[in-house]
Order: sequence, then C-alpha cells, then structure tokens
Amino acid sequence: MTAASNSPFTAAEADEIVAADQQYVMRPWTHPAGEPVIVARAKGCVVTDVHGKDYLDLTAGYFVNNAGHCHPRIVEAATRQLHEVLQVSGKHGTVPAVRLAERLIKLLPKSVNQAFFSTGGSEANEFALKMARQATGRADVAYLDNGYHGLTVGSLEVTASEKYRESAGQPIGRNTFSIPNAYCYRCPHAHDDDGCTTQCLDGVEAKLDAHDTAAIIAEPIQAVGGLAPPKQWWARLDKIRKARGILLIIDEIQTGLGRTGKMFALEHYGLEPDIVTGGKGLSGGVGSLAVTCASTDVIKKFFGGTTPTSGGNAISAAAGLAMIDTLIDEQLVENAAAMGRYFTDAVWALKDPWVGDVRFSGLLGGVELVADRATKEILGKKPMAAIKDGLHAEGMLITVSGLHGNVLRLQPPLSVTAAQIDTFVAALGRVLTAVRQAV
Ligand code: PMP
Repeated sequence: MTAASNSPFTAAEADEIVAADQQYVMRPWTHPAGEPVIVARAKGCVVTDVHGKDYLDLTAGYFVNNAGHCHPRIVEAATRQLHEVLQVSGKHGTVPAVRLAERLIKLLPKSVNQAFFSTGGSEANEFALKMARQATGRADVAYLDNGYHGLTVGSLEVTASEKYRESAGQPIGRNTFSIPNAYCYRCPHAHDDDGCTTQCLDGVEAKLDAHDTAAIIAEPIQAVGGLAPPKQWWARLDKIRKARGILLIIDEIQTGLGRTGKMFALEHYGLEPDIVTGGKGLSGGVGSLAVTCASTDVIKKFFGGTTPTSGGNAISAAAGLAMIDTLIDEQLVENAAAMGRYFTDAVWALKDPWVGDVRFSGLLGGVELVADRATKEILGKKPMAAIKDGLHAEGMLITVSGLHGNVLRLQPPLSVTAAQIDTFVAALGRVLTAVRQAV
C-alpha cells in the first residue's frame, strides 16, 4: 500500500518510539523483517504505523476486529460505557455483561445455557478443562493434532505444537493426548468416489478408551492453517465421543463471531457441544474478555472457587455487544462468506505454481505454498520468509503458520471489500514471481 503521511508523529518521534519498543517491550521470538509494526492509527481494514505507512491488515488485529478497526458504533458504545461504570468484578455484574451473556446463549446451540466470563482465550479454555474434569470426574482430555488453544500452562497441554509446548519450561501433558485432525490436502488415505472415508479417525475409539477421557477439545475449523474437516469427519467423531459420555469442548475463540461465514463455525457441522469457549472479537476489539459457556449439567458440578478479577469487564462487554449488532446489521457474516469465495477464486486465478491449496471458510483463509504442485513438496523456510518480507514491504500485514510453516494466513476484517482483496492478490502475485526469480 502507498505510504500515507497521516501519522500523528514526526519522523524523529516515530524513530524514538520504535527504539523505546526495542528497549522496553519483551518480545521473546524472532521477528520477520519490518516487524513489529507499532500502530498509531487503525480504521476499517487499514492500520497505519508511527511512520505513516499504511498496511492492509490481513490479520484483523490478530483475528479480533471482525467488524473492522475502530468501527464507529463500537467506539461509541465503549465510550458511552466509560461514563457509566468500568469494572465491578465477576462476583457482581454490569448491564453490558448480562446482556452479552444473554446474547451469546441465544446465538449458540441450545446445548449451552450459561456464560462464565474471563479475560482471555487461554483462560477461557483453562476453565473449560476444569469444568469438563469436574463434571465427569475423569482426568484426561484429548486434543487434535495441529490444535491451538492458548499459551498458559493448562491450555498449552492441549495445544499441539511442540515449539509452544516446550515454552512451558516443565514437563506437561500427563493428562492430555492427541488424536488425528483432518488435514485433507495431505490426506494419506485412499478415497472412495464420495470422497472422504474418515479413515484418519480409525483407531480413535481405542485411544479414547485407553485413557480416562473427560473431554475432547477442538476448534471446529483449525485456524492455524485453515483446516476445515469434511462434515462426515465431525459427524463420526461426535458419534464416537457421545457413545462414551465424553464431553465436547468447542473452541470458537478464533472461528466465532462471523469469521467462517456463520456466526459460529460449529453451525457448519450442526455440533451441540457441552462447552463452548469464545474470546478475541468478543470484546469488540477492546480486549480482555473471553467466555466459557456450558450446559446445565456441566454448570451444576462446576466449582470455580471465585472469579477472575476483571472477568466480563463492562467496557469490553459493551463493545462486544456493539460488534455483534454491527455484524448482523451490516450483514458482515454474509460478506465473510461471499468474500471468502471471492478470495479463493482470485488466488487460484493467479495460476501461480507455488500455490498448492487455497482453503477459505468465510474469511478464515489459508494459502498453502508448495515447491512442487504434483509432489506437494513444502516450500522451504527461505522462500517463505522472503514472501512474508515481500508482502510486508508491499504494505500487507499477514501471518505465516500451518503445520509445516508454509501457509499464508489470510483473515482480514469481515468488512473487507473485493477491491481490497484484488490489491492483496496482485501484490501476492508480484511477490511470488519476484521470490521465485531470486531463488
Ligand atoms: N484458542 C484459539 C483457537 C486461538 O486462536 C487463541 C489465540 N490465538 C487462543 C485459544 C488463545 O487466546 P488468547 O491469546 O486470548 O489467550
């Protein structure tokens, strides 16, 4: 995107802010070129850094600002609430928190009946794990390969990535184990004429029975890589777990609130979980709000002890309610479905030899890059890094992830337009060609 001089800072001030970030802010990972971006302003699908450079935000502020950055209706709701009451603790309540709980329960399947607020997605999953163990009296929890459920120690135990699990700094996972996910692009099994035979689930019963399994925790569609299981896959796993009285915890932290072209991704599969967790966009972008919704049976046995201090804070709840109203009134869930299809066609239309798979569920998108389409050889770290850097230089804010680190994750605000997608795809085409010529 073109550099705009709409930064509120002079170049010298912007340099000083970047230097202060490097000196004082802890970021214990390796940055791609040009990152971190220190954002001064954000509006809709565009963020502007302190130097005045605009980026098209294909991450929606890390999958949070589903209605777009600083949507006026959300800003107005949060501002109004600032003058009423800020925070009273989850032991009591505020009107926005009551209304948000009501709203969520009415939007979610009938299998969940009440909402418990906390302050972040990892924390919401911690509560889900506690609830499932308390409700069943069983100790073990199964998670899917490639699943992501957070970075606190309890949620790390059900997060698949070894890199993240090691960060616990202690042995973890005594009471957790993984079961297969559906990575259909790299499916090792034979297919019949109707497609998926759910063969990857063979043996799952034995694995679940070998443990004292309380629950399965899963994202309905895996956000790290955009892996959407076929309907029959979820139907089979759901049947297996129900036959054993195993609870289902559905993590909608990233897939919820319209991201996949439905208000919740579980709707694609007709799932009726015992527990649903939410976060990210639930705060309308204000942050610090997450939720664990549970069935009456689970709630009856739940002993929380007390509540997280800031669980259900009023500002975030007011903003979250405004976000949900905006998604509905501006038909952004429908836009996500339509723009996801548009994005898919546009990326395939590049006919780029490195584009191996394009997976969009609404605007939860993954483009898997391969060195060779026929063999599906994974595109190496070096070209992947160069592609990320090239897109960054073009003013495209994206993340790269996936099981093999070769998936471009494309998750703009749900208000993204076809013209903005065209701008991105044109940049992607230029960058892929340039990197291929350079390697
Ligand atoms: N679950 C999923 C599916 C997520 O995507 C995330 C965040 N990326 C989390 C849990 C953890 O949420 P938080 O970062 O708010 O703790």
